[in-house]
Order: sequence, then C-alpha cells, then structure tokens
Amino acid sequence: MPARPIRALLLESVHPDAAELLTSAGMSVESVDRALDEDELIDRLDGVTVLGIRSKTQVSARVLAAASDLAAVGAFCIGTNQIDLRAASERGVAVFNAPFSNTRSVVELAISEIIALTRRLTVKNSLMHKGVWDKSADGAHEIRGRTLGIIGYGNIGSQLSVLAENLGMHVVFYDIVDKLALGNARRAQTMREVLEAADIVTVHVDGRDANANLFGAEEFDAMRPGSVFLNLSRGFVVDGAALAARITSRRLAGAALDVFEEEPAGRGDEFVSALRGMDNVILTPHVGGSTLEAQQDIGQFVAGKFRDYLTEGATSMSVNLPGITLPVTASPQRLLLIHRNVPGALATINRILAEQGVNIEAQLLGTRGTIGYVVTDVAPACSERTLDQFRGLPETIRLRTLS
Ligand code: NAD
Repeated sequence: MPARPIRALLLESVHPDAAELLTSAGMSVESVDRALDEDELIDRLDGVTVLGIRSKTQVSARVLAAASDLAAVGAFCIGTNQIDLRAASERGVAVFNAPFSNTRSVVELAISEIIALTRRLTVKNSLMHKGVWDKSADGAHEIRGRTLGIIGYGNIGSQLSVLAENLGMHVVFYDIVDKLALGNARRAQTMREVLEAADIVTVHVDGRDANANLFGAEEFDAMRPGSVFLNLSRGFVVDGAALAARITSRRLAGAALDVFEEEPAGRGDEFVSALRGMDNVILTPHVGGSTLEAQQDIGQFVAGKFRDYLTEGATSMSVNLPGITLPVTASPQRLLLIHRNVPGALATINRILAEQGVNIEAQLLGTRGTIGYVVTDVAPACSERTLDQFRGLPETIRLRTLS
C-alpha cells in the first residue's frame, strides 16, 4: 500500500460493512447517502482511487475520462448498465459487482410463494379481510410430493432445487446448457417436458434477448391444468396478457410475479398490469433480491473485491477485465499491467525485464476481448526508468506496482 492512504468514495448508502472492510484494509473512506450527478461526481473523484455506487449513479465515459486517479468501480448491486464498461476497460478501470449476493433471498421468496399458492393462502387471506370465513380444504395442497419445474438451472434455479427437495418436492428442470443435476433433481431434455410434468413452474433464466416472450400462450397451454406459475427472473420473459387470460379462465390456479414487462420508474409511481386485482396472483415490486442480508453480503463482497484488487492485483470475477489471481509471493515487487490485447505484448514486457536484468519469479496473463492483463512478480524491483519504459509502450493502458 502507498504511504498516503488510498481514497475510496462510497455513494448511495452502500452497506456500512463495506466502509469497515476498506478502512481495515488501510483505505480512507468517504460515504455519501445519495447518488451524484455527472458534474458533482467528476468534482468528487479528484484523488479517489475506488468508487462504490449502486444503481442510480451513472459512471459515464465523461466521468471516467475526468477521473484520472480512479482504478476501480464497484457496483454494489447486480446490474452494471449504469457504468460505461467499454470506456472503463479502455482506461484500465476494473469494474466489480455482486452477482450472487441475493441468490438466497430470491430462492426464499420463491419458496414462500410456492407454498402460498399451493395452499391458496392469498385467496383465503383476501376473503378473511372481507370478513368471509371460508373454512375448506378445496384446492389446498401440501407441497410435499408435488413436482416443481425449474426453467433455468443457474445460481438461483439450482439453489431452489436443493431447498425444494428438502421440503419433499420432486424437481425437474430444463436449462439450455448442460448442468449438473443436484440431489435427486431430474434434467429434462426440453422445456415442454417440464411444463407437462410440473405442478408448479418457476422461471429463473437470464436476460439474454432470445428469452423475450419465452412464456406465451403456447407455453402456458402446455402446462398442466390447475398448475401454478412463477417468474422472478426478467419481466420481458413473460407475455403478461397471455398469463392474465389463463388466470382469468382458471386454466392456471395461480401465479407469482416479481418482475414485469413495464416497471414503474420510481417509488410511488403507479403499477399498471392486467394482473392487478386477482386474489390468486402474488405481485411484488421487483424485491426478489431485496433483503437486508443481501445488502450486507453485497457490501462485503464488492469491498472484498476492491481490497484484493488494490493489495494483490486480483481481478477474479471482474465484470470487464480478465479474471486473474496470482498467489502472493515473497518477491520485492509486483507489476500489474493492463494492456491492449495485441500480438507480442507479453514478449515485449518480458524482453524489457530481461534487458534490465530483472528476473520473473511468477507471472500470469489473461485476455478478454481487446484487453490484456498481466501480473508479474519480479526481483529485484524495477527501476523508475524501467517502469517508465513500460508506461511508454503503445500497448500499455495502465501500470500499477505493489511492493
Ligand atoms: P444465472 O445466469 O446463474 O442462471 C441463468 C440460467 O438460465 C443459466 O443456467 C442459463 O443457461 C439458463 N437459461 C438461459 N436461457 C434459458 C432458456 N431459454 N431456457 C432454459 N435455461 C435458460 O442467473 P441467476 O443468478 O440464477 O439469476 C436468474 C435470473 O434471476 C436472472 O434473470 C436475474 O436477472 C434474475 N434475478 C432477479 C432478482 C429479483 O429481484 N427478482 C434478483 C436476482 C436475480
């Protein structure tokens, strides 16, 4: 770490655990409880090495061009659309996020909704609030022994599979990629096979364009009569009108939706949907991953990525740079060089070191698109003249050293 503490700026009320972790790693941390606009952000980034944001602060190409000291940006959330990733890569700024921190929160919401819908809790609850005492078991089931169909067996789908089996459910899943079936879950060869087999179908696919309207009239009609449908993945995956029609006609027994084709821009704005007012439909405002536990985990996760990048040069799980983690050695100096991914870059770097009589003790190179990143432990440490040689290479984007 350098003599002067590295400065970190954390915006938008990032969880306090992040500041605590960065402070204990020797950084000086300033926390702000709101988003900053472009001009304000540029002013505040002078001398700042690490910037933490959530979803509202826009880290544009202009911001990145102005922030010459900035080495890393952390999105303390899942999405990174608010960051110009291409501009960040071109300037050698590492970007991190927290893709898994809210997985458990989504899974728990799905489990609660599976039970609520299978037990017709929402209908009973609605009647009770109207003063109707309808004590009957009609349409109410245990989830034990019922079949859960999972579409998309990624982080969320696979964890849901494990918890559902623990509750006594049978699990059948479909994923476009070969996935290891956990526990006794059965992998289906087609999505249709899942739709025809499941009492409950839950969607956990990613946001690729091809998933637009993955669920429309045809898919809902392939589901078993009286089955239940959940979507906690992306709104555009489901044709909301087709679903509403099958709920109204009682072809499906119920649904739970956390994400929508059209979501209101801000808190308090009206939510418009054909699914409003149906007592067997659970509607939640995109809160699948929103728990205090997830926020805390995000704070710790992204701050940990900052710490590892600044103290060791580790970029594992970076959103834009090649993921590299070179174990720390006893070498007197570590060179961290982000460079353009062109033929011969590594040979040039190693030739300069050899010419200066500097030995390579460990080295790791990774490339990603147009960017390369090479971490080299050397002995003895390079002279300032040698470092200037690296800085002057046409391939060099950014050089950092750790000693
Ligand atoms: P992931 O990338 O780990 O898993 C997605 C899986 O879906 C992958 O295994 C992929 O191969 C599979 N897939 C993609 N298209 C498919 C298709 N057409 N058919 C079958 N499988 C398909 O993602 P994750 O972390 O498990 O998240 C799943 C979804 O949940 C994402 O869309 C994510 O944005 C969303 N999410 C929502 C919330 C929320 O608040 N509701 C929170 C977190 C994540």
